[in-house]
Amino acid sequence: MSVATYPNHVRDSLSTGKFILTIELATPQATIPLDEAIRPLLTLAREIRDDPRIDAIALTDRSRSDHDHNPILTGHRVAEVSGKMPIVHWAGKDRAVRNLETDLELAESLGLDTFLLVTGDKVRHPAPDRPVRYLDSANALDVARQRSRDFLLAAAVSPFKYREEELVNQYLKAAKKLRAGANFLMTQIGWDMRKFEELGWFLNQRGYRPSLIAELLFLTPARSRRIRKFGLPGVTITDHFAQRLEEDAALPDCGGGAAFRRLALQIATLRDLGYAGVQVSGLARYPSVVRLLDETETVARIYPTPEARRQAWGELLVGKDGRTAEVAPADGLYLQAPAVTGLSGIPKAGVGAGAEWARFRAMDLIDRLFFEESSMSARTLGVSVRRVDPRSGFGSVLRWTERAIKGPLLGCQTCGFCRLPVTAYVCPETCPKGLANGPCGGTKDNVCEFGDRECIHNQIYRVSKQAGVLPNLEEVLIPPVPEAAWDTCSWITHFRGDGPKVTRLR
Ligand code: SF4
Repeated sequence: MSVATYPNHVRDSLSTGKFILTIELATPQATIPLDEAIRPLLTLAREIRDDPRIDAIALTDRSRSDHDHNPILTGHRVAEVSGKMPIVHWAGKDRAVRNLETDLELAESLGLDTFLLVTGDKVRHPAPDRPVRYLDSANALDVARQRSRDFLLAAAVSPFKYREEELVNQYLKAAKKLRAGANFLMTQIGWDMRKFEELGWFLNQRGYRPSLIAELLFLTPARSRRIRKFGLPGVTITDHFAQRLEEDAALPDCGGGAAFRRLALQIATLRDLGYAGVQVSGLARYPSVVRLLDETETVARIYPTPEARRQAWGELLVGKDGRTAEVAPADGLYLQAPAVTGLSGIPKAGVGAGAEWARFRAMDLIDRLFFEESSMSARTLGVSVRRVDPRSGFGSVLRWTERAIKGPLLGCQTCGFCRLPVTAYVCPETCPKGLANGPCGGTKDNVCEFGDRECIHNQIYRVSKQAGVLPNLEEVLIPPVPEAAWDTCSWITHFRGDGPKVTRLR
């Protein structure tokens, strides 16, 4: 049982409706000893202790490097000093269910109960001697929720996608995360206010009424340059917006004042849109946070209505040439138009599955003939296959045979727990993160974060749409591959009934 020992202002504010402000800090790299590395974090923690306007500090997980300090241990120190429950981020990259369980146990023992569970971005330096596996955030949420009803769980979502497949997939996966146990959603960083609005609209349209917290970044021209040079998965700063920021760079304060004004207007507008709060990154010092709070009060005073605030936001984007900087691609898709989606939130026209559809039908037929219990051939096959020990010599022959047939056809990695029938016959192991429950937030223009392929979840979306089963993408939770099953033949797992169960979430 979890025992929360710190006042949880995020939880309280979610229930009272007070607008939430949390400050995100990067958990430092483990190259420096913890006590020394977290000194600046503890300074801020001490300073916010008696400031009721700041609800929590959030701590990232392996955002700086593959080997950052443990955010749970860091979070505990922050909680002790700030007297406030932190939001501890936990990323599933290079981790499995057992790692999550160990970490949740540690967190519980330290009195921490609030987590943002994410899949995580690309591992920077993968170990050469073993594959990198990811625990999908939907599975992580399910595991955490099963462990404790008392956890306050957040899930990530990015509305900043502009093609149908990646956009609707994001929203359907967000819905799945809510069903799996998330109490609220935290957005990716972005500047497209229409997209912030669209996210709430889509989920409300489909009957979810989640609390939304927007992740915002204090964006200076220098930071924009850095992000555009080195990249930040899922974050887009368009050329036009970057140019606009460069005009601010020429000001005496190098664009600092405009950055505060822009951020304050975003906060005020998000409050107008019904967001439960914001999480701000890029401000690590208390005087800067106080300046932001003052600026937010100022914009509320100068621009007293939502319309005035929206207009002011637009005016801040106008450059010297008189043009408004575009913060999104010119031909980007927006769903909030009845002509586009009707009441379902899903575009009526748009993508079709084409040749993928024929492949889906063929694979479905094979599945029915050879693997479904009701078929005679499946029953006959099952009698002999279920007797085979997966790690025996004959088990290896079957694994080799499966790989030889399904490898060239589907990219099969003989994971030992075949999920093809619930992934529209697209192998989840062809996703570099091995995600089966939907995409991560790293796609851009429908392309995988790894940059070498179309996101495989686009294909799953297209086929599911054509088959009329899109709700599966928000309702069906596909469990992770058991570690013991890897490198065995999935046919044996199937006929023995050994695999974990796919569930339909309520
Ligand atoms: S889900 Fe596993 S068994 Fe099925 S095709 Fe992919 S790697 Fe092979």
